[in-house]
Amino acid sequence: MDGMTDLASSLFEEQRRLSRHEPPPHLKTRLNRLSRIRDLAIDNADLIAKAIAADFGVRSRTETMLLEIAPLLSSIRHTRRNLPRWMKPQARHVDLTFQPGKAYVRHEPLGVVGIISPWNYPLLLSLGPLVDAIAAGNRALLKPSELTPQFSELLEKLVSQRFDAGEVAVVTGGVETAEAFCRLPFDHLFFTGSTSIGRKVMQVAAANLTPVTLELGGKSPAVICDDYPAEKAARSIAFGKFVNAGQTCIAPDYILAPAAKARAIADAVIDQARRGYPTITNNDDYSAVISQRHYDRLARAIAMARDAGATVLTHEDDGARQARKIGPTVVLGAPAESLLLNEEIFGPVLPIVPYDNLDSALGFIKARERPLALYCFSNSRDVRRKILDRAISGGVTLNGTLLHIAQDSLPFGGVGHSGIGAYHGFEGFRRLSHARGVFEVGFVNMFERIGPPWGQRAAQIGKFLLRR
Ligand code: NAD
Repeated sequence: MDGMTDLASSLFEEQRRLSRHEPPPHLKTRLNRLSRIRDLAIDNADLIAKAIAADFGVRSRTETMLLEIAPLLSSIRHTRRNLPRWMKPQARHVDLTFQPGKAYVRHEPLGVVGIISPWNYPLLLSLGPLVDAIAAGNRALLKPSELTPQFSELLEKLVSQRFDAGEVAVVTGGVETAEAFCRLPFDHLFFTGSTSIGRKVMQVAAANLTPVTLELGGKSPAVICDDYPAEKAARSIAFGKFVNAGQTCIAPDYILAPAAKARAIADAVIDQARRGYPTITNNDDYSAVISQRHYDRLARAIAMARDAGATVLTHEDDGARQARKIGPTVVLGAPAESLLLNEEIFGPVLPIVPYDNLDSALGFIKARERPLALYCFSNSRDVRRKILDRAISGGVTLNGTLLHIAQDSLPFGGVGHSGIGAYHGFEGFRRLSHARGVFEVGFVNMFERIGPPWGQRAAQIGKFLLRR
């Protein structure tokens, strides 16, 4: 064990001890903890944006404000407003046989929640789950990504300034620390990251019977229907795909387009990209790729598609490679077995798959693992319903991209290979609570009155209970 894993396990032990010895925190304590997260984010917004930009090489300050800090604050406002109601015991129905008893559900803290987060939105994806963990009355240990070292170090410092280590603490470190972190017997492990690591996390957690929430990735399709203006769809897709240079878990991964319009849509997407980002290399609005390894993977995927005869449209300028940037790229005719059509892309490269009719487009989606997000562009309610009914995904935005994640009132999560369990708002509170059923016997306990010894009354009541 190295220093970091020692630290993680001693922090864990302390949080666990406190969680077992102290009663569930009151509403006031939870609201206070939530306001400390809010103040941490507001007071240090600039420092946070700078640290993330330094880790990326280039990451727009505005993107950090609008896509990380703003949604975090919005979720805190939503949670603070609704928490008093969520925490109230929920009365449940009591069958005649058990009256005059009372049945209710208490949502109680689980104890200590471990949160492992990725690099792409390092603030939102670490403190977002923390909001839900704290709302539910838990203590939490965070393990941010090693690919954003400056941010992770800053987060560790800021959290330790505002929280006792027994409430919330951050552990930094690489893969070895992450592996040791997973082995701690958390009351819940909340992981955001890739499907392959998520599988490992679940296996390790199983040894402790630690329940997991896995927020994973996948290939999220954007289906453009024939009735929808191609330009308008291209604008939404370009927005969702090129923010953070495509390094967004719910970015559209590929487009399904009516065959006759595929080329026009490709041109329209590139056109929108040019408008949003007139230049690439020296443009601070356009993010760099997080690491050389990720850059090489994307560059190789594009080269392989080109070599196989695909048409590659790119908006890039000189020096992009040195800045570790890949300009917005659209690929037509990528072969079925290519990397671009089989692995999550997670970068600014957008293959277009032409379809002849909607059923074949749906068939394409259904032949693959269930995606994290689905985008559908149609003005026909029937068509939208057909797509919703036939193609399952974690979440959906209709006639737009990304925006379902920003709705505090909606659950956010994957399904199948794109994840297990959802969070945000009420669903997040429930996910990280133990729903404890309580039955309170009334002034008379009819059920016990019937015996034993089993007699006439038991026979009569038995007859009633065995009714259809
Ligand atoms: P990753 O899986 O490589 O890493 C995520 C975290 O896991 C990091 O903190 C890392 O330190 C840790 N980790 C690495 N090896 C581990 C191990 N063996 N055991 C335990 N933890 C380990 O993912 P990434 O590259 O940081 O992020 C990109 C992926 O995350 C993409 O697949 C993307 O779709 C997904 N993602 C999903 C969501 C979502 O909300 N569903 C959000 C953002 C990103």
